[in-house]
Amino acid sequence: MNNRIDKLSELFESFPGIGRRQARRFVYFLLHKDPSYVRDLVDAITNVKAEVAQCSECYRFYPRGEGSVCPTCRDAAGSTQLMIVEKDADFENLHKTHVYDGRYFILGGFINANEKKRSFARVDQLMDRVARDTKAGTLSEVIFGLSISPEAEHTRLRLSTMLRERFPNLTFSTLGRGLSTGTELEYSDTETLKYAFESRIQQT
Ligand SMILES: [Zn+2]
Repeated sequence: MNNRIDKLSELFESFPGIGRRQARRFVYFLLHKDPSYVRDLVDAITNVKAEVAQCSECYRFYPRGEGSVCPTCRDAAGSTQLMIVEKDADFENLHKTHVYDGRYFILGGFINANEKKRSFARVDQLMDRVARDTKAGTLSEVIFGLSISPEAEHTRLRLSTMLRERFPNLTFSTLGRGLSTGTELEYSDTETLKYAFESRIQQT
């Protein structure tokens, strides 16, 4: 009997930011709920896996359709700008404002300053993408569209150093004024994003 509880706890414990005690609380929460709630939860998990795909170009999640590339990447195929954002929610906020309609790359996390800590940032995938687009002559500018925090800054510096070394002919820029310390792109309004994009700072 307790094996079942342990097993489910372990699964919850593998979620980002969830420790053993919280994982246990989730299990007991579910044990208290109606069977119909649990069925809905199981269905929702199954459906999200079946109906949401990850774009092979920008790595964002989108409703599964034809092909392996999301509609945004298809629409922006003619653009020579690539904006790097941390997560899907940042992309969604930027994209809906139409401040920028070029191509995107979702990093998936920041590079941790502590090398021992696991990083979810798709560094290799980013390097491959930039290499491929540079070779094809379809890329001129890489824009860092990251939130303002010490972790984001560390990530931007690491990535820009790596990219500039390998791709010295590209232009690199970062979102500018209007974004102050602690700014989360996910929650920034259109005017702020527009200003930040238009005043983006080129790195020399
Ligand atoms: Zn895409």
